[in-house]
Amino acid sequence: MSNQKLSVSLKLLIITLITGASGLAISLLFGTVQPNDLLRIKQPKSDKKKVTQEQAMTASTEASLATNQMNQVPNKFQGTVIYQAKLQANEKVIALTFDDGPGPKNTAQILEILQKNQIKATFFMIGEMVKYFPLVAKQVAADGEVIGNHTWHHWYRHMDVATAANEINSTADIIYQTTGVKTTLLRPPGGFLNNGLADYAKSHEYTVIMWSEESGDAQRRSPQVPRMVKNVLKDAKPGAIVLMHDGGGNRSRTVQALPQIIDGLRAQGYRFVTIPELLQIQAQEKIATAGSSVVTNHEYPNNQLNH
Ligand SMILES: [Zn+2]
Repeated sequence: MSNQKLSVSLKLLIITLITGASGLAISLLFGTVQPNDLLRIKQPKSDKKKVTQEQAMTASTEASLATNQMNQVPNKFQGTVIYQAKLQANEKVIALTFDDGPGPKNTAQILEILQKNQIKATFFMIGEMVKYFPLVAKQVAADGEVIGNHTWHHWYRHMDVATAANEINSTADIIYQTTGVKTTLLRPPGGFLNNGLADYAKSHEYTVIMWSEESGDAQRRSPQVPRMVKNVLKDAKPGAIVLMHDGGGNRSRTVQALPQIIDGLRAQGYRFVTIPELLQIQAQEKIATAGSSVVTNHEYPNNQLNH
């Protein structure tokens, strides 16, 4: 009997080893290696071996706390729709925002430009893209950029409450699980405020973030780089929110335009802030009157598609 038992155990062990090895091979082929190589994510070799799981968890918890403080929006903005901050004319701050990522190539390029210029921006991520490119999402958070919610499927159509809740909550969950970031910023796809998403977000402590100027990089006929730069520079004003894209298609023109946009705005005296920072500055200035930053959607009738 004992020999039979031993033989069965051995067979089980062999099967387990083979299955484990195949699983590892598959994950190496399709999961870990490919995105790492493609995206050039920095992972120091020594870290992998030396850092215990417990240490890693502590570090990530500390990082999350710091990150989530950075993401805090003053309470007065919860449940509102923001197109831009209302600031004094001499408060030359502007917020760059990037939608539809994280993407396999352009997001990393944009992060590099932001790093080089020591600028922080806000990335409105699609849940499904976070699922496909978790390492890129992690890198955005690790760089100290702010992350906002851009729903799971990027649908424009009308949604019932359950669908809207699922679009927003599933994205919030994967952003949190992947990066440790809890966000209360929502940018509705296409800027549509009347399809159920914004209503759900507003009643669940989110701030709905629109934009006051755009590069035009997601238009059907994407403008050439000089036009994109001009689009942003000509409308620059204190408290503006600039719409750009790091995903949803090839954004190589955005990558090309970004350094010129940064230089041009700096030449006009602007410094760059994230959306939470922008709202904190407005809250501190105490010049906002109730509803002054809330405008109705029909003022931007042509700006809604392809965002
Ligand atoms: Zn979008």
